[in-house]
Amino acid sequence: MSPGQVRTRFAPSPTGALHLGHAWSAILSHDFAVTHGGTFLLRIEDIDGTRSRPDHVAGILDDLAWLGLRFEGPVFQSERLASYAAALDRLRAMGLVYPCFCTRAEIAASLSAPHGAAVAYPGTCRRLTPAEVQARMGEPHCWRLDMARALALAGPLAWFDHGRRVEADPAPQGDVVLARKDAPASYHLAVTLDDAAQGVTDIVRGVDLFDATHVHRLLQALLGLPTPRYHHHPLLTGPGGRRLAKRDGAPSLAAQRVAGQDGRALADALRRGELPAGLSLAKP
Ligand code: GLU
Repeated sequence: MSPGQVRTRFAPSPTGALHLGHAWSAILSHDFAVTHGGTFLLRIEDIDGTRSRPDHVAGILDDLAWLGLRFEGPVFQSERLASYAAALDRLRAMGLVYPCFCTRAEIAASLSAPHGAAVAYPGTCRRLTPAEVQARMGEPHCWRLDMARALALAGPLAWFDHGRRVEADPAPQGDVVLARKDAPASYHLAVTLDDAAQGVTDIVRGVDLFDATHVHRLLQALLGLPTPRYHHHPLLTGPGGRRLAKRDGAPSLAAQRVAGQDGRALADALRRGELPAGLSLAKP
């Protein structure tokens, strides 16, 4: 990789078929790289072993080819588990993570927030004594970042989004999970490490991940990783302003591909801002 060369990526989770919202994001990321004479990478975020499926991986590769998007890769997160474990070890040695034995039900019960509201973990397991932790290590546990300690160590941080400086403020998200009970990393840890390992210079992704960037910036500082430039983009929304989602049955790219539609023409139409009926772009 030559210094200063732009590298972007598309990083889908193979837990369902891609829809137009994914196409939109992949096109923006791809075109950003091409415009800057750079490289567009594909990363398959398949650390969720129970929900990731090989047929969805195959579908993603076919969809990108159908849209006319050429990429380098793919890299699979499931092949990078040792790197995630090593980073977690480093954070553990720095005293910045702790095991959490709470179940979802216990966490929900300890919070008086309305159902579904995003609230930070109350820190129950952060207060366990070393002896209590020792006694419970045989139980299923995840690993959480001690946010207050991490922030004290890292100090003030910022990143650039569309060239605009954003102060990093991950504190409201509390002690986020860095390694899940069922996987050696969480989205936050894996994505931060992968973007650095792949030399990603510019992250073009949906504005729904804007809040996550506060956490990623902190992890970059703690692990001594470079900070890419960010370009969070508006989301494609369906009727009623709801963002397209797999679970809402948004029409899959695969269905359109198999029906014989022209993927390159679809990509060009999206580039011109011609959205299929009923779809619009949400303001960031
Ligand atoms: N894997 C994530 C998703 O499918 C995207 C990760 C990212 O772009 O940072 O939503």
